[in-house]
Amino acid sequence: MASPTPDVLIIGGGFAGASTAFHLSEVYRGSILVIDREKVPGVHASGRNAGLIRQSVTDPMIRRAVASSQPHYAHHGSEIGFRPCGSLLLGKRAQLEEVQETQRIASFFRTPDEVRRRVPLLDGHPFEVALETPADGVADIWALLQHYLRGARARGVQVRLDCEVRSISGPSPYRVETSRGPIEASYLINAAGAWAPQIAEMAGATPLPLVPWKRHLFLLERVGGVQSQWPFVWNLDRPFYFRPESTGLLLSICDEERSAVLEPTVSRAISEAAAELVWNELPALRGARERDVWSCFRTKAPDGRFVIGWDPSLERFFWVAGLSGNGVGSSWEVGRLAAGAFSDGEKTPEDAFAPSRFAAP
Ligand SMILES: Cc1cc2nc3c(=O)[nH]c(=O)nc-3n(C[C@H](O)[C@H](O)[C@H](O)COP(=O)(O)OP(=O)(O)OC[C@H]3O[C@@H](n4cnc5c(N)ncnc54)[C@H](O)[C@@H]3O)c2cc1C
Repeated sequence: MASPTPDVLIIGGGFAGASTAFHLSEVYRGSILVIDREKVPGVHASGRNAGLIRQSVTDPMIRRAVASSQPHYAHHGSEIGFRPCGSLLLGKRAQLEEVQETQRIASFFRTPDEVRRRVPLLDGHPFEVALETPADGVADIWALLQHYLRGARARGVQVRLDCEVRSISGPSPYRVETSRGPIEASYLINAAGAWAPQIAEMAGATPLPLVPWKRHLFLLERVGGVQSQWPFVWNLDRPFYFRPESTGLLLSICDEERSAVLEPTVSRAISEAAAELVWNELPALRGARERDVWSCFRTKAPDGRFVIGWDPSLERFFWVAGLSGNGVGSSWEVGRLAAGAFSDGEKTPEDAFAPSRFAAP
């Protein structure tokens, strides 16, 4: 079989790669190939997250990216399983006022009593006040990822799975050795999530300071009275979040662990840490049972902002990485910004996300 020669090779078929392929195929006339080393797309962070669409984040640039994405999720609601259940952000009034002031969407303060009447699991949890954002919600992450891949395929994008990048030379053209043979491409898009630094190193691109941080999610059962229409709850002070998941509860204690090995293993002490948090902060959950626990990586730049744009030193090498804990909520806008910056040549529309912010002066 002749080696494929797409104009653009996107490495990674998670939210970064899939949404970029979706949007780029609308504006770019050349051929696009997405590859992923897994047999199924979304095996890593994109398939192991909580699916929260949270606009009430503190960073204004990320908030803008999520807020610009939200109407598209609402519009494609049934196809991507978007549930506009809203969110309750718990914290101190001053903290939440700051979030509210810079938000362009409607949000309302709620007293602890009002909140506990709606979500009795918060009985016994001390918080000053809650900020409710009704337009927040939860997406079906598999359906959303498929939505991007299906849309991209319909416009001629090829997707090749079980295809691992092993080495890269180039750039004129790039020659990428993979587990399924060589691929030659004029442009590379690095959307490899936690492995984006490795792909950059193979290609000789700028070593950007991206760090994968491991985080766990718990699925709890024997939780009394969970109602599927509850908003998701996010506590700012001693951070945790939860939302209904079938008849149980999906809980994160917002742990962050730097790990040298990129394996989604479950850390030994994590269940005790969750039990301690429940004991101290969420007494109504003391009788719950841990049905499942898993981990995955949130890959972050030091300023917590995305990395979208051309590599500062290597020609024809484009980054869509560092989506941190917002890669689902902002995925629509991430792909749109990436497609715009890519097809506009050197110009990055959103300087706050440009890889060049980390380049030595
Ligand atoms: C526990 C947890 C909870 C989260 N909850 C939320 C949430 O509620 N809301 C939200 O917005 N975000 C959340 N996130 C963040 C979100 O999951 C990520 O931001 C997003 O999934 C990152 O997408 P990605 O495409 O960059 O990475 P990935 O999904 O990891 O995709 C990268 C892909 O690159 C492929 N790849 C890597 N190396 C190679 C190679 N050598 N050759 C070929 N392919 C390769 C991998 O197989 C992988 O499929 C959460 C993350 C975690 C870990």
